Amino acid sequence: MRVGIPRSLLYYKYLPFWKTFLTEIGLEVETSPLTNKQILSWGVEVAENELCVPVKAFYGHCMALRGRVDAIFVPRVVSVEEREYTCPKFLGLPDMIGAVADNLGLPPLLTPRLNQREKPSEFKWQLINFAREEFGLGRLEAAMALESARRAQRRYHDSLVAGRRPLDLLPASRLNRPRWRPAGKGTRRVGLLGHPYNLYDGYITQNLIARLEEAGVELVVPEMTDQHVLMEAATDVPKQLYWTYEKEIMGAINHWTEQKKVDGVIYVLAFACGPDSLVQVLIEHRAREHKVPLMSLTIDEHSGEAGLVTRIEAFVDMLMRKKPAVSAA
Ligand code: SF4
Repeated sequence: MRVGIPRSLLYYKYLPFWKTFLTEIGLEVETSPLTNKQILSWGVEVAENELCVPVKAFYGHCMALRGRVDAIFVPRVVSVEEREYTCPKFLGLPDMIGAVADNLGLPPLLTPRLNQREKPSEFKWQLINFAREEFGLGRLEAAMALESARRAQRRYHDSLVAGRRPLDLLPASRLNRPRWRPAGKGTRRVGLLGHPYNLYDGYITQNLIARLEEAGVELVVPEMTDQHVLMEAATDVPKQLYWTYEKEIMGAINHWTEQKKVDGVIYVLAFACGPDSLVQVLIEHRAREHKVPLMSLTIDEHSGEAGLVTRIEAFVDMLMRKKPAVSAA
């Protein structure tokens, strides 16, 4: 059986885990192509207008898998940390896609429910039961598949913390390669903040990462910092956050500003994103407090390339004039 993983949303966080788990339980895995004009137009046409652009793209990626796979993997990711939640869109994703699946001619959806809000071990049993109920695996086989998946995710995480970026580790993820420019003396370090599906989808962000690399800045991204460090740093806010992925973003800016790791921050957020619009206020406050220049880039399906380039150039130019650069840490 061939199962498709849409190259959108949590793909950028958990592909090594999901791909290994599904392969180990005996499935062939295929991912949808990089986001392109056709995929985004499909998604925009079908999805509710008020949804954020990465969710719209997710619809398009499911459509791109039609005719190529026997099922599409759309997990219901409710909670990945105790006493916390993910964005409501992740809770409802199987329902949103399921509601249009027949009309769009999508193959059946595989929708394991992943919820470890009450206790961390629940995640393990939810996946083992999914493999047993859907594919008739024995408990031991399913547990072994889970263990392999955990190891793959750990390797991915360790490589990211060691300085590699998702675009370099995930298969064929770059829209194009930047022109190589040596990081010269006085190069500024820019913290690139946001959800991985907003930062690393080159089509949606108009190739933001390549443009920053071309501008000669050194990029720092949240994935370069250990998850525990981010979570600890995220507690330095007036009121605790209950959305895990927003906590990671908050933890990243708190950590960067506290440790003076960046000269400036670019925060990429999606238009109509509820969680990010709340966290944005905290991020702006933090940047102001630590006197770190911040540029927020709101993306949607209409974002234009020319405006983005101008804003990046102006921001990098401002950083270059501002002295001194932080020491590379
Ligand atoms: S966190 Fe925001 S950008 Fe991400 S899925 Fe939810 S609404 Fe969309």
